Amino acid sequence: MSIIIKSEREIAAMRQASRIVASVLEVLKKELRVGMKTKELDNIAARELERMGAKPSFKGYRGFPANLCVSINDEIVHGIPGERTINEGDIVSLDLGAIYDGFQGDAAISAIMGNGSPQARKLVEVTEGALEAGIDAACNGARLGDISIAIQHYAESRGYSVVREYTGHGIGRQMHEEPKVPNFGRPGEGPELKKGMTLALEPMVNIGDWRTRVGSDGWAVSTADGSLSAHFEHTIAITDSKPEVLTAV
Ligand code: MG
Repeated sequence: MSIIIKSEREIAAMRQASRIVASVLEVLKKELRVGMKTKELDNIAARELERMGAKPSFKGYRGFPANLCVSINDEIVHGIPGERTINEGDIVSLDLGAIYDGFQGDAAISAIMGNGSPQARKLVEVTEGALEAGIDAACNGARLGDISIAIQHYAESRGYSVVREYTGHGIGRQMHEEPKVPNFGRPGEGPELKKGMTLALEPMVNIGDWRTRVGSDGWAVSTADGSLSAHFEHTIAITDSKPEVLTAV
């Protein structure tokens, strides 16, 4: 498989799918409450996607049973919403994909319930900053490794680790297209970034070690050492100048 360059029309379709993702995540952020079960968030995501005429990207993907991933505290990604109750101080990461008019958008946010610990607040802030650093590096003519190292450097220079076993990805008609976009790498390596490439950048940042483990449900990925983790993701398009963030609110 090779990297698929999108036409203006295709990017317009991705912009629509991506805006739906962003607006559903906004609704979820407003509805998030201590005491809520994570399946309630999934129900809201399903309702909002349907209302906007979109389909969930995740439901049924390799058998994933929900519309939304909800990953809490030491969970990094792929948490299945269910009976778990959200507590004061939790880091709640919400990851959502939508399909609209044949194209996909994919984004994630992490939110802290209430004030949270200073450690949790700093982690969330740095993870979002790492995503911004990756986006800033995603300029026409740069290399994929320039994005990866920007994310890695931002997180590691602040004392955190980046998850290595899961990566960002190309996105388009398929949720996962070429290339993989690791959150670690070397400057100047990998394919050149060209106008019309569409990528999902998604730093997953841990307070402790980068290693992960998969839970007993076969989906939820947690930090191996039990340390806190956060996750932010945007779908972007490479342009002639700065990248366009398709999943911007
Ligand atoms: Mg993704």
